[in-house]
Parts: sequence; structure tokens; C-alpha cells
Amino acid sequence: MIGKKTGKVVGYSARYKRCRKCDVAKFKKRLPTKHKCRKNWCGSAKSMEPDMIVEILKDAKKKDTPVITLIGDDDCTAFNRARCEVDSCLEKVSDINHVKKNISNRLHKIKGKYKELSVKTITALIKSFSFMLAQNKGDSDRIKNSLPSVVLHQFGNHDGCGDWCQMKNKPTAKHRNLPWGADLKDENLKKDLLKVFTDLDPGKMSKLDSSNPNESFNNTVRSKAPKDKHYSESGSLAHRLSAAVCQKNEGYKYVAQVHEELGLSPGIATTVTAAIRDKDVNRKRTVAKTKEFKLQRLKLKSQRSSETRSHEIREGDTYCSNVIGMYKFYLYVFNKNLKKQ
Ligand SMILES: [Zn+2]
Ligand SMILES: [Zn+2]
Repeated sequence: MIGKKTGKVVGYSARYKRCRKCDVAKFKKRLPTKHKCRKNWCGSAKSMEPDMIVEILKDAKKKDTPVITLIGDDDCTAFNRARCEVDSCLEKVSDINHVKKNISNRLHKIKGKYKELSVKTITALIKSFSFMLAQNKGDSDRIKNSLPSVVLHQFGNHDGCGDWCQMKNKPTAKHRNLPWGADLKDENLKKDLLKVFTDLDPGKMSKLDSSNPNESFNNTVRSKAPKDKHYSESGSLAHRLSAAVCQKNEGYKYVAQVHEELGLSPGIATTVTAAIRDKDVNRKRTVAKTKEFKLQRLKLKSQRSSETRSHEIREGDTYCSNVIGMYKFYLYVFNKNLKKQ
């Protein structure tokens, strides 16, 4: 659990289904040697998350720092359990990236039915949706009224558009993000799109926030405990998780601090490298917040995807089932002809 204002880890926990020492002792039919057993879970892996969330929230409440709002994906079991067991007034806020991803998935599902609904069109719809949300943050009534305009805007009807629309009262203006800047025309597509967007809950949409710091923390954990290595049968995983938390909260200088705590003097290389890395992280963090960087990132992303698309059209199908079979077949024919010659 990460604090919204500080961006630091305020609570963490881990669940272990197995303990190697206990397992070996059981296999050899003897008593396990004395060890700090980490095993604390016997349910399924899916049910670990709600349990951990409840535990962390309870801990926070014990420390007299109760949590009021929980930002996260739309995992309702965890939230409902937290409301029942910890605090009935706990408020839930969805993560904006998960919401956008869900809409994008729904649009990709109906993509096959309509020729006009290309990847570019879907991106344009999501973009307009994000602008609309950003400009009506906290106002569920305005969001409710503006949701259809996200779709109608793409069809050339700008009556309900908000400030985000740059084509209002400009009859000659073209769409920036749609293919060839032209309005969409398919009436059935309009109906389906309107259904997707008006199905959304305006109350939920009015107070979205981001759980990106958690995703970034996941990356740190992944660098310490990769998924393809099995560390979760001993204390190793706990230490790795603690190291990741220290790195998130204190920066790379945590290594030197741990050394000092243990009565060891940290080496020069340790402190110097940590300082360089911390400086680098801070520099990247400041740059990533600037408007220029964000625009450049978007530009490069669209460039990459258009390049990939044009390459794929030229190359034809290269990676799908049965393609290998055809390739072998051609080789065979070729060899047969060689033999004839
Ligand atoms: Zn054990
Ligand atoms: Zn518009």
C-alpha cells in the first residue's frame, strides 16, 4: 500500500503457501529442524490479495493512521472485505488506467464487426474520453451529460462537446486523431459505441485516480525477485521484498544504511554508485513530468505503431498457427523440383 501524497510504501505483506524445510522434513518423515517458518497461507493464490489488503488496513488502523480512500483496480472482493472487517466508511476510487483499458478491451471486442473501428479510431475515442474526464473531474452530473458527446464528436456532432473539443464552431476543421481527419459515418457503430460509453458509471468516473506508483513498485519487486526464480519457499522472498520497499522509500542509499545498522562501514563503491543512481532516478522523474516529454513519448509511440503496421502489411502473416506448415510445404516443393532438375 502506497501513500497518495508521499508516494512511499506505508504497508506491505507477503503470503507463503509452502516452506521448504517443513516439506523436506515431511518427505523424510522426521521432525523439521528449528527454523523461522514463513508458511502462512493455505488458500488459493487468488485469495491472497484480499487477505493482505485487509491485514495492511488493519495494521494502519492500529497505528492510528486509518485509511479513508482506497485507490485500486476494480477488484470488489478485496474492497468489500475491507469494508466489512476494517472500516465501513472506506471509500473506493478506481484506477483510471484500468478503466481505460476495460473500455479499450470492449471496443476491441466489437472491432471485427465494423470496418470504421480501427485501432486509430479506438485510440481517438479513448483520448477524447480522457480529455473529457480531466476537464470534468469531480462533477458526476457533467460527466453523465458529456459521455455521449465523446462518441458523437467522432461522428461530427459537436453540440454537447466541452472545452476539450477544438472543432466546435469551426465547420472546416478536421479531426486530428481519426484516419484522414474524416467523421465516422456508420450508424450501427454509433449505437454500439454509445452503449459502451453510456454504460459507464458517472459517479465512479468523476473521482478516478491512478495506481501507477504500485505498478512501478511491482517492477522494483520483479527486479529483486524475478517470477521465473523460485524464492518463495524460504525467507529469501521476505528479504527481497523488504529490500524493494527500502529502495522505493529511501532510494538506492538504503544498502549503505543497512550496512551501518549492522555495524559495517559501507564501501566507497556502494555509496558512490547509490548516489549516482539516486540522482539518475530523480532526473528521470522530473523529466517524465514535463509536457514536452509526454508529447514526445506519444509521438514516438504512434510512430512505432504505424511503422509496425506498414511492415506487417508488407510481410503478410508471419506468426500465427498453420503458417509454419505452409512454409514447410513450399520448401518441400522446391526440393522436389531440384531433384527433377
Ligand atoms: Zn517451515
Ligand atoms: Zn466535438
